[in-house]
Amino acid sequence: MPHTARFWNKVDKSGACWLWTASARKGYGHFRVGARSKGSHRVSWELERGPIPEGLHVLHNCPGGDNRACVNPDHLWLGTNADNMADKVAKGRHTNQNTYKTHCKRGHEFTPENTHTTSEGWRYCRECKKLTNQQQRRSKNGK
Ligand SMILES: [Zn+2]
Ligand SMILES: [Zn+2]
Repeated sequence: MPHTARFWNKVDKSGACWLWTASARKGYGHFRVGARSKGSHRVSWELERGPIPEGLHVLHNCPGGDNRACVNPDHLWLGTNADNMADKVAKGRHTNQNTYKTHCKRGHEFTPENTHTTSEGWRYCRECKKLTNQQQRRSKNGK
C-alpha cells in the first residue's frame, strides 16, 4: 500500500478534527515513512500542502482547542521555532493562569506586545529590557 493510503487509513475524519488513531507520543501522532518516524501532523501537511520549509514547525490551531492528535491541514499552520514557543506560552497562559506569571518583577504586564520569547522559550519583558538598555547607555556615557 502506498504510504499516502496507509496514512489516511489511520485517520478518523468523522469530526472537525481529523484524529490520528495509530501510535502517538506525548499526544502527537507518529507515522513511519521508510525507516523514519515522523509526526503525523507533519506528514499530513506534506501530503496535502507540500514540503515543509527547513526550520519550520507544523503547529496546531484547532477551533475547539488544540488537539495534538489532529491532522486536519485546515487546523495546521507553519511557524518558526519562536512562533511555536510564543504559541505555547500564549495557550499555556490561556488554559492555566498559574503556570505563567502575568506581570514581570517590575510589575509590567506580559502582553503579547511587551513579551519577547527567545528560541529557548524564555520570556522577557520588553519594558524592562528597554530600561536596562537605557541604564547601560547612561553608564557608558559616564552620567
Ligand atoms: Zn483540529
Ligand atoms: Zn518589566
